[in-house]
Amino acid sequence: MPVERASTVVFDDLDSFERRVDRLYDGFSYGLYGTPTSRQLEDHIAALEGGSRALVVPSGMAAITLTTMAVCHGGDRVLIPETFYGPAREMAARLLAPLGIDTVTYDPKLDGRLSALIDGRTQLVWVESPGSATFEVQDVPAITAAAHEAGALVAVDNTWASHLLFKPLKHGVDISMQALSKHAGGHGDLLMGSVAVNDDTLFRRLKDTARFLGYGVSPEDCALCERGLMTMPVRMRQADSTAQNIISWLSERPEVAQILHPSEPDHPGHSTWKRDFAGSAGVFSFVLQPELAPHQSEALRRMRLFRLGASWGGVHSLISVSDPRKGRSGLDWLKPGPVWRLSIGLEAVGDLLADLSQAFEHFAETRRTTVGDAKAAE
Ligand SMILES: *Cc1c(COP(=O)(O)O)cnc(C)c1O
Repeated sequence: MPVERASTVVFDDLDSFERRVDRLYDGFSYGLYGTPTSRQLEDHIAALEGGSRALVVPSGMAAITLTTMAVCHGGDRVLIPETFYGPAREMAARLLAPLGIDTVTYDPKLDGRLSALIDGRTQLVWVESPGSATFEVQDVPAITAAAHEAGALVAVDNTWASHLLFKPLKHGVDISMQALSKHAGGHGDLLMGSVAVNDDTLFRRLKDTARFLGYGVSPEDCALCERGLMTMPVRMRQADSTAQNIISWLSERPEVAQILHPSEPDHPGHSTWKRDFAGSAGVFSFVLQPELAPHQSEALRRMRLFRLGASWGGVHSLISVSDPRKGRSGLDWLKPGPVWRLSIGLEAVGDLLADLSQAFEHFAETRRTTVGDAKAAE
């Protein structure tokens, strides 16, 4: 893919210069509003998403803020799931609230019952399925039907599944958003986000909002993202296959209280996942036995291949530790204990299992010490 850099675009004559705003959505008038390189990536993403138009922006977070601000204005209401990407929940409280945009946070298990929360002011319903950290799968068609009946638009953060495993626009969703920083970038070194739609008016609203916010993307980054898209199906399949092996191993371990992955038969939304998704990504969580909480940091320190990091979708495996219980209700299905999220990379499965195994050995040692101490006390 040729990389064409530009801030300035030059025009052949005064007439075309004066009519340059006509080129805002489809042609080229200024580097910030699109280059041949960014347009090519956008056209590619629109096709992959099954949409008519797509827009690329500097990050996944930029895509969430852009979508919300393009649709909602002062006095409006937006619904977000409790599992929504953490920084976006903070954005709602600290950027949207002062602008008079009111946020209602809902239990991701509500599905069609969400209609009770949609009032005349509600312009937008956000869905993130599966949700961050705990991976509940939401019933997108039911939510979309409820929102549309009340005149609200639906946007899906589809970062986990990506266009390869779930196509929100095909399920009637209005806006499909992805953090391309994850699976598409795929190497832990790229930041980008996308929004795809099937409606030209909505596209223009998004494009205008991106222009007002001054969002632009580097053509080098677009070319890297394009390269990532080419290997993404193979990488995602490989990571998922390794993840399945790691899940089998974890399921047998006494240290593990619960696996949080849509393919678990008792996981919230499991049947919806089977109905709507074409597979799973190599990103999931598990709950450690609560008594292991004080020993986590030493076990994590012993990891060699799994590094501590908050992102995911790259070639290197990562662990992220969070407390998903903060600010949430409806988590009675979640067992107590620390939650570790794994992002499975492209390392050999045997090496990853050996790494987990030697780090978990620390848990076994602490248990032997505890049992030994108890025996000594007797
Ligand atoms: C990472 C992530 C984002 C934000 O993407 P950035 O490009 O890092 O800003 C949004 N949603 C989800 C689900 C994510 O995992």
